[in-house]
Amino acid sequence: MAVDRQSRFSRKLLKWYATHHRKLPWRQTRDPYKIWISEVMLQQTTVPAVIPYYEKWLSQFPDVQTLSAAPLQQVLKAWQGLGYYQRAKNLHRSARILLEKHEGKIPEDYDELIKLPGFGPYTTAAVLSIAYDKPFPVIDANVRRVWMRIMGKTKESTPKADKDIFKFMKPFLPPEKMGIFNQAVMEMGSLVCRPKSPLCLLCPVQEYCKAFTMGEQEIIPRPQKRSYRKIEAVIGIMEKQGKYLIQKRPPTGLLSDLWEFPGGKRQKNETLEQALHREIKEELGAEIDRIQLLTQVNHAYTQFQVKLFAFQCLLKTDPSPTKDGHRWVSLRGMKKYPFPSGSAKIIQFLEKREKERGGHP
Ligand code: SF4
Repeated sequence: MAVDRQSRFSRKLLKWYATHHRKLPWRQTRDPYKIWISEVMLQQTTVPAVIPYYEKWLSQFPDVQTLSAAPLQQVLKAWQGLGYYQRAKNLHRSARILLEKHEGKIPEDYDELIKLPGFGPYTTAAVLSIAYDKPFPVIDANVRRVWMRIMGKTKESTPKADKDIFKFMKPFLPPEKMGIFNQAVMEMGSLVCRPKSPLCLLCPVQEYCKAFTMGEQEIIPRPQKRSYRKIEAVIGIMEKQGKYLIQKRPPTGLLSDLWEFPGGKRQKNETLEQALHREIKEELGAEIDRIQLLTQVNHAYTQFQVKLFAFQCLLKTDPSPTKDGHRWVSLRGMKKYPFPSGSAKIIQFLEKREKERGGHP
């Protein structure tokens, strides 16, 4: 492809971006900390969902110093509802390392930055290009889709395609304007080259697009096959003098360090009640009775879908002293604790019930 044609590609794209981009809060800044936070939040989460989290986060943790000084529980609470909690833990860990080793500043060097927890190739390139105009291209799901369509590549949209994409896009990149170029491709992927019904007639780079020429923009890239696990879980709602028993999840694994009501997965051939007895015994070393179904909520996490059955029950015996990590907390007190979204729905149910009873949640 002629050099002129390639540089015209980026001129057209940047011109389109200058007039069409959304005025998002993280686009009003070159502060690497703020760009880092927005990029991490935007992974697996939509722009409208991120905006209120981003603004609240910056009012709580405006810089590396405040984030590193905050207790992990406060950080997880601020993240509650965004999912993939490991992202919040990595932000917290990285902030502490930045303070300790880099005087609270985000390094401009790729090899230094990528060493920090949570800084994979995408986040590192995004922060360096957008905040410091370093010449690193990025590939996220939106960018991958745009380039796969331009290339006419019919494979599934997975990171396996990225090597070819990097090779193909190289001649199109304007190294001196990488930050804005990266944002322009991402924005184009969100607003125009959408997963379904792309707006090809409004596309600034339509003349470069093989998928459009072949009329295959709706089928490129091939959708990723996803197996979505479905699980059923039971939880025990135990109440004592206006307080409820909650416990902390283990420090590693899924939803680690978050709080929840005691309970767990129903096993094959178990009734819900049997599962609850077993789980409470395993987790608290205690016996329960007077079990009554309170409510059932569904929640889809990224990796699985859970049907959560919440049972009111009474503790027949106290939790075993060898099982720690649980606390009696009022509904109001729970506002300080980070919960997974499924448990947060149960708390909403309990708050509503308490209001109906005439009490204060
Ligand atoms: S022409 Fe259509 S499919 Fe091709 S890049 Fe533009 S919006 Fe995407």
